[in-house]
Amino acid sequence: MKVIVVGSSHGGFETVRGILAEHPETEIQWYEKGDFLSFLSCGMQLYLEGVVKDVNSVSYATPAGMRSAGVHVFVKQEITKVDPAAHTVHVIDHAAGTERDEDYDKLVLSVGALPASLPVEGHDLQNVYGMRGRDWAIKLKAKTVAPEVKDVVVIGAGYIGVEAAEVFAKAGKKVTLIDVLPRVLDLYLDKEFTELLTSEMIKNNIYPATGQTVKRFVGQNGKVKSVVTDQGEYPADLVIQAAGIKANTAFLKDVIELDDHGLIKIDDYLQTSDKDIYAVGDATLVPFAPTAQNNRIALATNARRQGRIAAKNIFGAAQPMTTVSGSSALSVFRYHFASTGVKTGTSVKLGVETKSVLVKDTVQPPFVSLEDGNAEVWFKLTYAPSDGRVLGAQILSKRDVTANINVISLAIQQKLKVTDLAYADFFFQPGFDRPWNIINIAAQKAAIQLK
Ligand code: FAD
Repeated sequence: MKVIVVGSSHGGFETVRGILAEHPETEIQWYEKGDFLSFLSCGMQLYLEGVVKDVNSVSYATPAGMRSAGVHVFVKQEITKVDPAAHTVHVIDHAAGTERDEDYDKLVLSVGALPASLPVEGHDLQNVYGMRGRDWAIKLKAKTVAPEVKDVVVIGAGYIGVEAAEVFAKAGKKVTLIDVLPRVLDLYLDKEFTELLTSEMIKNNIYPATGQTVKRFVGQNGKVKSVVTDQGEYPADLVIQAAGIKANTAFLKDVIELDDHGLIKIDDYLQTSDKDIYAVGDATLVPFAPTAQNNRIALATNARRQGRIAAKNIFGAAQPMTTVSGSSALSVFRYHFASTGVKTGTSVKLGVETKSVLVKDTVQPPFVSLEDGNAEVWFKLTYAPSDGRVLGAQILSKRDVTANINVISLAIQQKLKVTDLAYADFFFQPGFDRPWNIINIAAQKAAIQLK
């Protein structure tokens, strides 16, 4: 069997690893159009803040390492056409300046996405950047230490935008964080949490400008100078666009079925409209556990699970993609938060009726004071009022208690109810937590509300 894998990020990497683990005799050709294999955008903030020094170490595979495992690795080689009938792909070798066709038995596409560029006047000015991949990482790093960059505007107050804002605020820049949505991290956290984080941002030189629509970028001598919204104008020596992504699927139009957003249509087994072509990662939708509908949730975790499952299914395993809950975590200066599933803020859009309980507690028992290292913790549990099924949760603290959210993710996937969590067995150690884990406490409150 000859398998061609396109794209070397999370989805492509995990597909290749999965094939090597279970079918090492396979002939694998692995293509990456960029000049670097498997850059880890998730690690970009650590590099930009100087925690990780070498940009090339922000990766999980090297061409030499993968070749020694028997994989034919092609970097700077782009797949520009697919012919499903002939079972061939067209390859442009950007390094050698040559072109060729390659045949396959199975093709796995993990072509991912690029930062979306806002379709407004001035979007092509100099110093309007994106934040994804190694090339942008290197350019952004240079701007963190550029003395002429004083004002930074980040567009998009989701995960990536908040990471970008924090990087530049820590680098001493004044940052404006614009979003069309009414709150920062609106899709990840409810108001109780974003209010805390908004004041934490303002204390640290990030000024949220939410509920605003970007109208144009104003330039001077070809360089961006300010960003105009429907409510104001913000000075900008650098703009970072983090308001959504666009799938790299233009070359697949009329080859396999795409949806209106250019995402590749796949079934539960990650198979596209052509039976020998599979697709994974940010260019696809994933099954969202709380609603059992397919959603766009661009996370490495999802791409990795899909890659592993695609690697089985191309050999006939017929394993459906596991449902996911969009679990994610992030730090905003002193705070760490994580969330999963449905929030009050996303419930209407998802068409789900919800009820929630909010618990404010301390991580350790009260006999450990805040001065002695205890920390406050906020936890919100969201459930279905009809039957108490767990639908989502959010947690925030100055202590890293984010891993609690993984329990809720599993509870959602396993269709557990708040009554299942109320007395569930979780450890107690006063150095770490309280006799009743905060999940127990919230679930007990929810169970009373349900009665
Ligand atoms: P991509 O990462 O988009 O990669 C696709 C690859 O395919 C690219 O290298 C591209 O050059 C190549 N390619 C595309 N078309 C072709 C072609 N025709 N021929 C050859 N090669 C091609 N997720 C998390 O779970 N946790 C995090 O902490 C997290 N942090 C993030 C931080 C940042 C700043 C960003 C930008 C993303 C973060 N994500 C995180 C999301 C995560 O990076 C993506 O979900 C993941 O990278 C998706 O992987 P993918 O394989 O679909 O595609």
